[in-house]
Amino acid sequence: MSRFMHTKYQSLIPYDTSEEIESLTGYIRLNTNESPYPPSEKASAYALQASRSMNYYPDPECSALARKLSEMLNVRPSNIVFGNGSDEILHFIFMAFCERGAAFPDITYSFYRILAGFNGVDCLTVPLRDFRIDPDDYRDMNGRTIFIANPNAPTGIALELAELERIITANPESIIVIDEAYADFWGHSAIEFVHRYSNVIITRTFSKSRSMAGARLGFCVANEDIITDLRTVKNTITPYNINAMTQAAGLGALEDEEYTQKNIAEIISTRETTKKALRDMGFSVIDSCTNFLFARHERLSGKDIHSALKTKGIIVRYLHNLPAYNRITIGTPEEMNALLSALKEIIHA
Ligand code: PMP
Repeated sequence: MSRFMHTKYQSLIPYDTSEEIESLTGYIRLNTNESPYPPSEKASAYALQASRSMNYYPDPECSALARKLSEMLNVRPSNIVFGNGSDEILHFIFMAFCERGAAFPDITYSFYRILAGFNGVDCLTVPLRDFRIDPDDYRDMNGRTIFIANPNAPTGIALELAELERIITANPESIIVIDEAYADFWGHSAIEFVHRYSNVIITRTFSKSRSMAGARLGFCVANEDIITDLRTVKNTITPYNINAMTQAAGLGALEDEEYTQKNIAEIISTRETTKKALRDMGFSVIDSCTNFLFARHERLSGKDIHSALKTKGIIVRYLHNLPAYNRITIGTPEEMNALLSALKEIIHA
Protein backbone atom coordinates (compact mmCIF):
# COMPACT_ATOMS: atom_id res chain seq x y z
CA MET A 1 0.00 0.00 0.00
CA SER A 2 1.27 3.48 -0.77
CA ARG A 3 1.32 6.12 1.92
CA PHE A 4 -1.34 8.01 -0.09
CA MET A 5 -4.21 5.48 0.31
CA HIS A 6 -7.23 7.04 2.02
CA THR A 7 -7.43 5.85 5.62
CA LYS A 8 -11.01 4.65 5.09
CA TYR A 9 -9.79 2.22 2.41
CA GLN A 10 -6.64 0.94 4.09
CA SER A 11 -8.25 -2.21 5.49
CA LEU A 12 -10.30 -3.19 2.43
CA ILE A 13 -10.26 -6.88 1.48
CA PRO A 14 -11.10 -7.03 -2.24
CA TYR A 15 -12.70 -9.89 -4.16
CA ASP A 16 -9.99 -12.50 -4.84
CA THR A 17 -9.65 -12.93 -8.60
CA SER A 18 -6.25 -14.67 -8.64
CA GLU A 19 -7.56 -18.10 -9.60
CA GLU A 20 -9.90 -16.62 -12.20
CA ILE A 21 -6.91 -15.03 -13.88
CA GLU A 22 -5.01 -18.32 -13.71
CA SER A 23 -7.95 -20.19 -15.22
CA LEU A 24 -7.56 -18.15 -18.40
CA THR A 25 -4.41 -20.05 -19.25
CA GLY A 26 -5.47 -23.39 -20.69
CA TYR A 27 -7.51 -24.88 -17.86
CA ILE A 28 -11.01 -26.30 -18.10
CA ARG A 29 -12.64 -23.55 -16.08
CA LEU A 30 -15.46 -24.76 -13.88
CA ASN A 31 -14.93 -22.16 -11.16
CA THR A 32 -16.88 -19.02 -12.04
CA ASN A 33 -20.29 -20.22 -13.22
CA GLU A 34 -19.92 -18.89 -16.74
CA SER A 35 -21.71 -20.45 -19.70
CA PRO A 36 -19.55 -22.89 -21.67
CA TYR A 37 -21.35 -21.85 -24.85
CA PRO A 38 -20.44 -18.83 -26.97
CA PRO A 39 -22.82 -15.88 -27.13
CA SER A 40 -25.54 -15.78 -29.76
CA GLU A 41 -24.16 -15.00 -33.22
CA LYS A 42 -26.58 -12.11 -33.33
CA ALA A 43 -25.02 -10.69 -30.15
CA SER A 44 -21.54 -10.84 -31.68
CA ALA A 45 -22.71 -9.38 -35.01
CA TYR A 46 -24.48 -6.45 -33.32
CA ALA A 47 -21.41 -5.79 -31.11
CA LEU A 48 -19.15 -5.71 -34.16
CA GLN A 49 -21.47 -3.29 -35.92
CA ALA A 50 -21.61 -1.06 -32.83
CA SER A 51 -17.82 -1.01 -32.66
CA ARG A 52 -17.80 1.08 -35.85
CA SER A 53 -19.38 3.94 -33.87
CA MET A 54 -17.27 3.73 -30.76
CA ASN A 55 -15.95 7.23 -31.38
CA TYR A 56 -19.22 8.35 -29.75
CA TYR A 57 -20.20 7.92 -26.11
CA PRO A 58 -22.80 5.20 -25.60
CA ASP A 59 -26.47 5.81 -24.79
CA PRO A 60 -26.47 6.43 -21.00
CA GLU A 61 -30.02 5.07 -20.73
CA CYS A 62 -29.47 1.92 -22.85
CA SER A 63 -32.79 2.86 -24.49
CA ALA A 64 -33.04 0.13 -27.13
CA LEU A 65 -32.12 -2.54 -24.62
CA ALA A 66 -34.54 -1.19 -22.03
CA ARG A 67 -37.40 -1.17 -24.56
CA LYS A 68 -36.79 -4.76 -25.64
CA LEU A 69 -36.34 -6.03 -22.10
CA SER A 70 -39.41 -4.20 -20.81
CA GLU A 71 -41.55 -5.94 -23.45
CA MET A 72 -40.13 -9.32 -22.49
CA LEU A 73 -40.57 -8.80 -18.74
CA ASN A 74 -43.91 -6.99 -18.86
CA VAL A 75 -42.59 -3.87 -17.10
CA ARG A 76 -41.87 -0.31 -18.29
CA PRO A 77 -38.43 0.91 -19.40
CA SER A 78 -38.68 3.26 -16.40
CA ASN A 79 -38.65 0.16 -14.14
CA ILE A 80 -35.17 -0.86 -15.32
CA VAL A 81 -31.63 0.34 -14.77
CA PHE A 82 -28.51 -1.31 -16.22
CA GLY A 83 -25.19 -2.04 -14.59
CA ASN A 84 -21.70 -3.06 -15.68
CA GLY A 85 -22.55 -6.57 -14.57
CA SER A 86 -25.12 -7.06 -11.82
CA ASP A 87 -22.21 -6.52 -9.42
CA GLU A 88 -22.37 -2.83 -10.29
CA ILE A 89 -26.12 -2.77 -9.64
CA LEU A 90 -25.45 -4.32 -6.23
CA HIS A 91 -22.91 -1.61 -5.58
CA PHE A 92 -25.44 1.12 -6.49
CA ILE A 93 -27.90 -0.52 -4.08
CA PHE A 94 -25.36 -0.59 -1.24
CA MET A 95 -24.64 3.10 -1.84
CA ALA A 96 -28.25 4.19 -2.16
CA PHE A 97 -30.27 2.05 0.20
CA CYS A 98 -28.27 0.56 3.06
CA GLU A 99 -28.16 3.41 5.54
CA ARG A 100 -29.88 1.22 8.14
CA GLY A 101 -27.63 -1.76 7.43
CA ALA A 102 -27.84 -4.94 5.38
CA ALA A 103 -28.86 -8.52 6.15
CA PHE A 104 -28.14 -11.67 4.18
CA PRO A 105 -27.55 -15.40 4.77
CA ASP A 106 -24.23 -16.45 6.29
CA ILE A 107 -23.63 -18.62 3.23
CA THR A 108 -24.33 -16.69 0.05
CA TYR A 109 -22.68 -14.59 -2.66
CA SER A 110 -19.49 -13.27 -1.06
CA PHE A 111 -19.65 -9.93 -2.82
CA TYR A 112 -22.46 -8.66 -0.54
CA ARG A 113 -20.09 -8.57 2.40
CA ILE A 114 -17.31 -7.00 0.34
CA LEU A 115 -19.57 -4.22 -0.92
CA ALA A 116 -20.93 -3.65 2.57
CA GLY A 117 -17.36 -3.24 3.82
CA PHE A 118 -16.52 -0.75 1.08
CA ASN A 119 -19.62 1.30 1.85
CA GLY A 120 -19.30 1.15 5.64
CA VAL A 121 -22.61 -0.73 5.89
CA ASP A 122 -23.34 -2.69 9.06
CA CYS A 123 -24.10 -6.36 8.21
CA LEU A 124 -26.28 -8.92 9.91
CA THR A 125 -25.62 -12.46 8.67
CA VAL A 126 -28.45 -14.90 9.17
CA PRO A 127 -27.45 -18.59 9.45
CA LEU A 128 -28.92 -20.96 6.91
CA ARG A 129 -30.69 -24.03 8.31
CA ASP A 130 -29.44 -27.18 6.66
CA PHE A 131 -28.33 -24.94 3.77
CA ARG A 132 -31.84 -23.50 3.43
CA ILE A 133 -33.23 -20.04 4.05
CA ASP A 134 -36.02 -19.97 6.65
CA PRO A 135 -38.24 -16.90 6.11
CA ASP A 136 -39.00 -16.84 9.84
CA ASP A 137 -35.37 -15.89 10.46
CA TYR A 138 -35.99 -12.63 8.58
CA ARG A 139 -38.40 -10.93 10.94
CA ASP A 140 -37.56 -7.69 12.74
CA MET A 141 -34.91 -6.58 10.30
CA ASN A 142 -35.44 -2.96 11.42
CA GLY A 143 -35.13 -1.43 8.00
CA ARG A 144 -32.00 -3.29 7.02
CA THR A 145 -31.82 -4.00 3.30
CA ILE A 146 -32.18 -7.76 2.83
CA PHE A 147 -30.21 -9.54 0.10
CA ILE A 148 -31.49 -12.94 -1.02
CA ALA A 149 -29.75 -14.69 -3.90
CA ASN A 150 -32.49 -16.85 -5.38
CA PRO A 151 -31.44 -19.50 -6.25
CA ASN A 152 -28.68 -19.12 -3.68
CA ALA A 153 -24.98 -19.52 -4.39
CA PRO A 154 -23.01 -21.63 -3.65
CA THR A 155 -25.77 -24.03 -2.54
CA GLY A 156 -27.86 -23.92 -5.74
CA ILE A 157 -31.03 -24.09 -3.62
CA ALA A 158 -34.04 -21.90 -4.47
CA LEU A 159 -36.57 -20.45 -2.05
CA GLU A 160 -40.13 -20.88 -3.29
CA LEU A 161 -41.76 -17.59 -4.35
CA ALA A 162 -44.46 -17.85 -1.67
CA GLU A 163 -41.74 -18.17 0.99
CA LEU A 164 -39.90 -15.21 -0.46
CA GLU A 165 -43.09 -13.21 -0.33
CA ARG A 166 -43.27 -13.87 3.42
CA ILE A 167 -39.93 -12.10 3.83
CA ILE A 168 -41.22 -9.15 1.80
CA THR A 169 -44.48 -8.75 3.70
CA ALA A 170 -42.76 -9.15 7.10
CA ASN A 171 -40.43 -6.26 6.30
CA PRO A 172 -42.33 -3.31 4.84
CA GLU A 173 -39.62 -0.91 6.07
CA SER A 174 -36.84 -2.81 4.32
CA ILE A 175 -35.87 -3.10 0.71
CA ILE A 176 -35.67 -6.75 -0.32
CA VAL A 177 -33.09 -7.36 -3.04
CA ILE A 178 -33.70 -10.60 -4.90
CA ASP A 179 -30.56 -11.53 -6.80
CA GLU A 180 -31.73 -13.68 -9.70
CA ALA A 181 -28.34 -14.28 -11.32
CA TYR A 182 -29.22 -17.98 -11.72
CA ALA A 183 -33.02 -17.81 -11.97
CA ASP A 184 -33.09 -18.78 -15.66
CA PHE A 185 -31.87 -22.25 -14.69
CA TRP A 186 -34.66 -22.53 -12.12
CA GLY A 187 -37.39 -21.31 -14.44
CA HIS A 188 -39.11 -18.99 -11.95
CA SER A 189 -38.74 -15.30 -11.17
CA ALA A 190 -39.99 -12.83 -8.58
CA ILE A 191 -40.24 -9.98 -11.12
CA GLU A 192 -44.01 -10.09 -10.76
CA PHE A 193 -43.59 -8.85 -7.15
CA VAL A 194 -42.40 -5.49 -8.46
CA HIS A 195 -46.01 -4.74 -9.49
CA ARG A 196 -47.28 -5.53 -5.99
CA TYR A 197 -44.57 -4.31 -3.62
CA SER A 198 -42.75 -0.98 -3.60
CA ASN A 199 -39.84 -2.38 -1.57
CA VAL A 200 -38.55 -5.05 -3.95
CA ILE A 201 -35.57 -4.93 -6.31
CA ILE A 202 -34.82 -7.83 -8.66
CA THR A 203 -31.27 -8.01 -10.02
CA ARG A 204 -30.41 -10.08 -13.06
CA THR A 205 -27.42 -10.69 -15.30
CA PHE A 206 -26.50 -11.52 -18.89
CA SER A 207 -23.40 -13.33 -17.57
CA LYS A 208 -24.84 -16.81 -17.11
CA SER A 209 -27.71 -18.01 -19.32
CA ARG A 210 -26.93 -15.41 -22.02
CA SER A 211 -23.21 -16.25 -22.28
CA MET A 212 -22.05 -12.64 -21.87
CA ALA A 213 -19.93 -12.64 -18.70
CA GLY A 214 -17.08 -10.98 -20.58
CA ALA A 215 -19.27 -8.14 -21.85
CA ARG A 216 -20.42 -7.11 -18.33
CA LEU A 217 -24.15 -6.50 -18.45
CA GLY A 218 -26.66 -6.70 -15.62
CA PHE A 219 -29.83 -4.86 -14.69
CA CYS A 220 -32.44 -4.50 -12.02
CA VAL A 221 -36.19 -4.15 -12.04
CA ALA A 222 -38.03 -2.16 -9.37
CA ASN A 223 -40.69 0.52 -8.98
CA GLU A 224 -40.02 3.89 -10.60
CA ASP A 225 -39.06 5.72 -7.40
CA ILE A 226 -36.37 3.17 -6.60
CA ILE A 227 -35.11 3.27 -10.19
CA THR A 228 -34.96 7.08 -10.04
CA ASP A 229 -32.72 6.85 -6.96
CA LEU A 230 -30.48 4.26 -8.56
CA ARG A 231 -30.23 6.40 -11.73
CA THR A 232 -29.20 9.36 -9.58
CA VAL A 233 -26.36 7.31 -8.12
CA LYS A 234 -25.37 5.87 -11.50
CA ASN A 235 -25.46 9.21 -13.34
CA THR A 236 -23.40 10.82 -10.59
CA ILE A 237 -20.55 8.35 -10.66
CA THR A 238 -20.68 6.58 -14.01
CA PRO A 239 -23.29 7.86 -16.51
CA TYR A 240 -21.85 5.87 -19.44
CA ASN A 241 -21.45 2.63 -17.52
CA ILE A 242 -22.53 0.29 -20.33
CA ASN A 243 -20.32 0.50 -23.41
CA ALA A 244 -21.85 0.60 -26.89
CA MET A 245 -20.70 -2.90 -27.90
CA THR A 246 -22.19 -4.45 -24.78
CA GLN A 247 -25.50 -2.64 -25.27
CA ALA A 248 -25.66 -3.91 -28.85
CA ALA A 249 -24.66 -7.45 -27.86
CA GLY A 250 -27.31 -7.46 -25.15
CA LEU A 251 -29.99 -6.53 -27.68
CA GLY A 252 -28.78 -9.26 -30.03
CA ALA A 253 -28.93 -11.81 -27.23
CA LEU A 254 -32.48 -10.79 -26.33
CA GLU A 255 -33.55 -11.08 -29.97
CA ASP A 256 -32.23 -14.66 -29.98
CA GLU A 257 -34.21 -16.04 -27.08
CA GLU A 258 -34.46 -19.45 -28.74
CA TYR A 259 -30.67 -19.83 -28.54
CA THR A 260 -30.69 -18.89 -24.84
CA GLN A 261 -33.44 -21.38 -24.06
CA LYS A 262 -31.62 -24.13 -25.98
CA ASN A 263 -28.44 -23.51 -23.96
CA ILE A 264 -30.34 -23.47 -20.67
CA ALA A 265 -31.94 -26.84 -21.52
CA GLU A 266 -28.54 -28.25 -22.50
CA ILE A 267 -26.90 -27.06 -19.27
CA ILE A 268 -29.72 -28.45 -17.12
CA SER A 269 -29.49 -31.81 -18.86
CA THR A 270 -25.67 -31.91 -18.39
CA ARG A 271 -26.13 -30.88 -14.76
CA GLU A 272 -28.47 -33.77 -14.05
CA THR A 273 -26.23 -36.42 -15.66
CA THR A 274 -23.18 -34.99 -13.87
CA LYS A 275 -25.03 -34.99 -10.55
CA LYS A 276 -25.91 -38.64 -10.90
CA ALA A 277 -22.35 -39.60 -11.90
CA LEU A 278 -20.93 -37.70 -8.91
CA ARG A 279 -23.35 -39.43 -6.54
CA ASP A 280 -22.27 -42.77 -7.94
CA MET A 281 -18.70 -41.83 -7.04
CA GLY A 282 -19.46 -41.16 -3.38
CA PHE A 283 -20.26 -37.45 -3.51
CA SER A 284 -23.19 -35.89 -1.68
CA VAL A 285 -24.62 -33.44 -4.18
CA ILE A 286 -27.38 -30.98 -3.38
CA ASP A 287 -30.18 -30.81 -5.97
CA SER A 288 -29.37 -27.67 -7.92
CA CYS A 289 -31.59 -25.03 -9.55
CA THR A 290 -28.57 -23.35 -11.17
CA ASN A 291 -25.71 -23.92 -13.62
CA PHE A 292 -23.45 -25.35 -10.89
CA LEU A 293 -23.36 -28.20 -8.40
CA PHE A 294 -22.37 -28.02 -4.76
CA ALA A 295 -20.79 -31.28 -3.67
CA ARG A 296 -18.74 -32.96 -0.97
CA HIS A 297 -17.00 -36.29 -1.14
CA GLU A 298 -17.42 -38.88 1.62
CA ARG A 299 -13.64 -39.24 2.06
CA LEU A 300 -11.74 -36.39 0.39
CA SER A 301 -11.92 -32.73 1.37
CA GLY A 302 -12.99 -30.01 -1.05
CA LYS A 303 -9.56 -28.51 -0.66
CA ASP A 304 -7.78 -31.73 -1.68
CA ILE A 305 -10.12 -32.28 -4.62
CA HIS A 306 -9.57 -28.72 -5.78
CA SER A 307 -5.76 -29.08 -5.70
CA ALA A 308 -5.74 -32.51 -7.33
CA LEU A 309 -8.05 -31.40 -10.14
CA LYS A 310 -5.90 -28.35 -10.73
CA THR A 311 -2.85 -30.51 -11.41
CA LYS A 312 -4.98 -32.27 -14.03
CA GLY A 313 -5.89 -28.97 -15.74
CA ILE A 314 -9.36 -28.46 -14.25
CA ILE A 315 -10.32 -25.62 -11.91
CA VAL A 316 -13.37 -25.91 -9.66
CA ARG A 317 -14.22 -23.56 -6.82
CA TYR A 318 -12.93 -24.22 -3.35
CA LEU A 319 -14.58 -22.12 -0.65
CA HIS A 320 -12.46 -21.24 2.37
CA ASN A 321 -15.46 -21.06 4.67
CA LEU A 322 -16.80 -24.47 3.52
CA PRO A 323 -13.64 -26.59 3.19
CA ALA A 324 -15.49 -29.90 2.75
CA TYR A 325 -17.21 -28.72 -0.44
CA ASN A 326 -16.58 -27.78 -4.02
CA ARG A 327 -18.74 -25.68 -6.29
CA ILE A 328 -18.57 -27.04 -9.81
CA THR A 329 -19.78 -25.04 -12.79
CA ILE A 330 -21.60 -27.03 -15.48
CA GLY A 331 -19.52 -26.97 -18.65
CA THR A 332 -20.05 -28.77 -21.94
CA PRO A 333 -20.73 -32.54 -21.81
CA GLU A 334 -17.10 -33.07 -22.96
CA GLU A 335 -15.76 -30.90 -20.14
CA MET A 336 -17.86 -32.75 -17.59
CA ASN A 337 -16.63 -36.10 -18.91
CA ALA A 338 -13.06 -34.83 -18.45
CA LEU A 339 -13.97 -33.79 -14.90
CA LEU A 340 -15.50 -37.17 -14.08
CA SER A 341 -12.51 -39.09 -15.47
CA ALA A 342 -10.11 -36.91 -13.49
CA LEU A 343 -12.17 -37.39 -10.32
CA LYS A 344 -12.18 -41.16 -10.79
CA GLU A 345 -8.39 -41.13 -10.90
CA ILE A 346 -8.15 -38.88 -7.86
CA ILE A 347 -10.58 -40.97 -5.78
CA HIS A 348 -8.88 -44.25 -6.65
CA ALA A 349 -5.31 -42.95 -6.28
N1 PMP B 1 -25.03 -12.54 -8.01
C1 PMP B 1 -24.61 -13.79 -7.82
C2 PMP B 1 -25.33 -14.65 -6.86
C3 PMP B 1 -23.48 -14.26 -8.53
O1 PMP B 1 -23.03 -15.51 -8.34
C4 PMP B 1 -22.84 -13.41 -9.45
C5 PMP B 1 -21.67 -13.88 -10.29
N2 PMP B 1 -20.57 -14.29 -9.68
C6 PMP B 1 -23.31 -12.11 -9.59
C7 PMP B 1 -24.41 -11.71 -8.86
C8 PMP B 1 -22.63 -11.09 -10.45
O2 PMP B 1 -22.68 -11.35 -11.79
P1 PMP B 1 -22.32 -10.28 -12.88
O3 PMP B 1 -21.64 -9.10 -12.22
O4 PMP B 1 -21.45 -10.98 -13.84
O5 PMP B 1 -23.63 -9.87 -13.47
